[in-house]
Amino acid sequence: MDWRLILIGENGPTPKQAERIAEALRATGATLELISEGTGKTFPFPVLEVLDPQDRLDRATIHQIAARLGTDVHIAARPSAECKLLVADMEATIIEDEMLDLLADKRGIGPAVADITARTMAGELDFSRSLKARTKLLAGTPESQLRELCGQIRYTPGARTLVQTMRAAGAKTVLVTGGYDIFAQEVVRHCGFDEVVSNRPVLRDGVMTGELHPPICNAQTKREQLLRYCEELGIGPHSACCVGDGANDVEMLQTCGLAVSYKGKSVVQKIVDLNITNGDLTAALYAQGFKAAQIADH
Ligand SMILES: [Mg+2]
Repeated sequence: MDWRLILIGENGPTPKQAERIAEALRATGATLELISEGTGKTFPFPVLEVLDPQDRLDRATIHQIAARLGTDVHIAARPSAECKLLVADMEATIIEDEMLDLLADKRGIGPAVADITARTMAGELDFSRSLKARTKLLAGTPESQLRELCGQIRYTPGARTLVQTMRAAGAKTVLVTGGYDIFAQEVVRHCGFDEVVSNRPVLRDGVMTGELHPPICNAQTKREQLLRYCEELGIGPHSACCVGDGANDVEMLQTCGLAVSYKGKSVVQKIVDLNITNGDLTAALYAQGFKAAQIADH
């Protein structure tokens, strides 16, 4: 089986570590070709095409090689193919922050809401119940305050490039979020997503009542939307890339072909093909076989 490997870890790999891993892979009879270098935090990360004519490499062997060389290098290995669909989580994935936490801060109830958010994303609390509870705490918030926060959204490095490059290659791009529609619309506008699924707080006379319009977009919804768009495009879930960081992304990440997290919570790190810790979201493009020249600088 042939592989595409992205050598990407928290602090590297250093060029020396990368070369030692390449040597170990070659010792199995594989042929390596450096096809791209991504932009890492500390060093550029190599993207390797590995031809394995003797079929001596599998995912476990590749991971063992990295571990044996004493690096914290994370290796994502899979046969590469450009995905036809991107389904992305919003908060702590496409954007840096959890917007309800920021909003709660402004309302003077930051710690109460942030604690519920953190426990929810770690998988300790049911998402729908948690979102309802946090929304209730935010009752009385004027719409103007929500709109004001839209101007403070901080985008994750590489987010817009990921969306724009996949779109340019003909993929459909969908934002699915447990967050509020008012923020999601702003993110869609900035990044250029084709579609969006989000949650809607009830507003009466321009003020949040503390309730939500049904249905709630939760973990099941995210997976359902993934399957719905696959059906619409006439593709299997293996042709879709999902990106997410929290417990409510696990179902969709387990269903798609290329599962990616950006600094994912531990519950997510365990199940993804690629957890990006060094570098930015464009690593999800290299994992699909895009080369540096194809990656639009947005
Ligand atoms: Mg998230």
